[in-house]
Amino acid sequence: MDLSGIEELKRKRNAIILAHNYQPPEIQDMADLCGDSLELAIKAAATDADVIVFCGVHFMAETASIVCPDKTVLFPAPDAGCPMADMVTAAGLKDWISRMGHMPVVTYVNSPAEVKALSTVCCTSVNSVKVVNSLAEKEVLMTPDRNLAAYTATQTDKKIHFWDGYCPVHDALRADDLRRAKERYPAAAVLAHPECRGEVLALADAVLSTSGMLRYARESSAACFLVATENGLLHALKKACPGKLFYPVSEKMVCPDMKRITPRAIADSLENMRPEVRVPDDIRRRALDAVQRMLALR
Ligand code: 13P
Ligand code: SF4
Repeated sequence: MDLSGIEELKRKRNAIILAHNYQPPEIQDMADLCGDSLELAIKAAATDADVIVFCGVHFMAETASIVCPDKTVLFPAPDAGCPMADMVTAAGLKDWISRMGHMPVVTYVNSPAEVKALSTVCCTSVNSVKVVNSLAEKEVLMTPDRNLAAYTATQTDKKIHFWDGYCPVHDALRADDLRRAKERYPAAAVLAHPECRGEVLALADAVLSTSGMLRYARESSAACFLVATENGLLHALKKACPGKLFYPVSEKMVCPDMKRITPRAIADSLENMRPEVRVPDDIRRRALDAVQRMLALR
């Protein structure tokens, strides 16, 4: 099916396509809206479309379903998960909470809906510091990303206890990889995602979410950038700033789960109205509380 076929199906279903900034170039280019995790949740909540075709990984489609239960959330690649989100379970979190004593639980959106439902508040890579600082308590539990938690701990006076999860794509990057890249491009400004290890973040000029990197690159006077995040973002960066140069810190920073959606799968999902992601109502309501507490802080 060509693009005009997808446009026709979108009209028929009153659908929009939301895509994460790591999606393959052809998916980013056909999406109605691209963004980071926070922006996609906000855009899902705000749309008046009846159907959202979500192009990203499973926890992101779940978040869209949590914030808009009255809409159909189609997820064209049902096997596209997030290994970091799979590192925490509701049972594991309950056990941790009981061992640690009662403290607020700040849960990165890269997590299953059941885990969000047990949490005080959610956060994303863009607002973790603001979320933690919004809490009255001096100590908090943060899950599932140890690197985002460690970064947040450097930006706040709160004591942060963290779960030992991580993103295999970002965590694999080492300071030596970045040093080698900086030797090749000494004039480049370094942008790093907070899912990277502290040793990498210490060498970066800016630590930002994916859309934060897009804004920074647009506004910066720098002409050349080294990018320490999943390499799908390079397409969006080059499109946003055609006169500037962007290089990956490592060619290995590819998230296979983010590459599973194809135009064919989008067309099939719109034709057949499946696969759908829908969060059961009892979990959804409790997860929504945690997501809304985060959204209220904007
Ligand atoms: P952003 O919210 O910064 O887009 O990050 C999502 C993600 O999965 C990073 O690996
Ligand atoms: Fe999950 Fe990492 Fe892929 Fe982001 S890049 S979706 S955190 S595995």
